[in-house]
Amino acid sequence: MLYLKSCKKCGGDMYQEKDTYGHFRQCLQCGLVQDLDMKPAVPIQKPAAKAVGAPKIAVA
Ligand SMILES: [Zn+2]
Repeated sequence: MLYLKSCKKCGGDMYQEKDTYGHFRQCLQCGLVQDLDMKPAVPIQKPAAKAVGAPKIAVA
């Protein structure tokens, strides 16, 4: 998909692309890349199932 004159840097035309990191737009004139998928800097961690309350091993 093409976005005419939507580049905030040079006012050029941008096209939308998608790679393994998600969607982004790139300017045809100046090459500016604009990420569309805002991901958290730190990946969300799933709670460990057995981290809390695990039976302790008694060491004699
Ligand atoms: Zn541009």
